[in-house]
Amino acid sequence: MTVELYAYTCGFLTIPQAFLLEHTTGRITVPIPAYLIVHPKGRVLFDSGLNLRTQIDPEAYIGAESLRYTTFHFRAGEEISARLQAIAVAPEDVTHVVNSHLHYDHAGGNAQAPNAEVIVQQREWEHAMALPDDDVAYRKTDFDTGQRVRRVCGEHDLFGDGTVTCLPTYGHTPGHQSLRVQTGRGEFILCGDACYLRRSLETLHLPGVRADREATLSVLERFRTMQERGARIMFGHDPEFWKTVPQGPRRLG
Ligand SMILES: [Zn+2]
Repeated sequence: MTVELYAYTCGFLTIPQAFLLEHTTGRITVPIPAYLIVHPKGRVLFDSGLNLRTQIDPEAYIGAESLRYTTFHFRAGEEISARLQAIAVAPEDVTHVVNSHLHYDHAGGNAQAPNAEVIVQQREWEHAMALPDDDVAYRKTDFDTGQRVRRVCGEHDLFGDGTVTCLPTYGHTPGHQSLRVQTGRGEFILCGDACYLRRSLETLHLPGVRADREATLSVLERFRTMQERGARIMFGHDPEFWKTVPQGPRRLG
């Protein structure tokens, strides 16, 4: 049985660098990743990138206040549904969307996989649904789509064979999860926002955006252990690292 892993950069965001590295200044332009896992029992997205509305009218989607410190670089054709078609996967055939968490740059494209079941941690779902509609990071229009939602608690083996496993990595948000994928080319840890940059792992320089400082740090230490064991760590928003990542239609794993 082969499990294939593909990576995509679905646009970029320019944001304050302090979001990623606390106590720093300036702004940084970061890639917005999404992944496809092709498994004999399904086609899985891990995160779905930005909402299509940000290609046309970001202000109507996110509000003028956010645009004072955020710039979207996201053009037609860069969205996950278009990228999938380039490897002959129809967006309608995506069976699952695993969301690391429900921030707008991770769940914004969920509706592009209309038939998929969404897999999210129960505590992330509860946190997100309890927020006001004008929250700057969580947009209900992204994730309250009417799609079927599987709310999981802690570690979750998606196909029951150990190849695609949700790992609770709470800290960035109350219910963040990462994904471990066992492919023919080795083990990959898709961090999501639990580890933004290679530098985050190497120096344990914490991000400015986090729900829980201690939990964020202990997740980084777990990633270090996995890396020592031979797992490839896929940093969530590292511009230099992502220049080196093979993009679909080329296989990553
Ligand atoms: Zn986030």
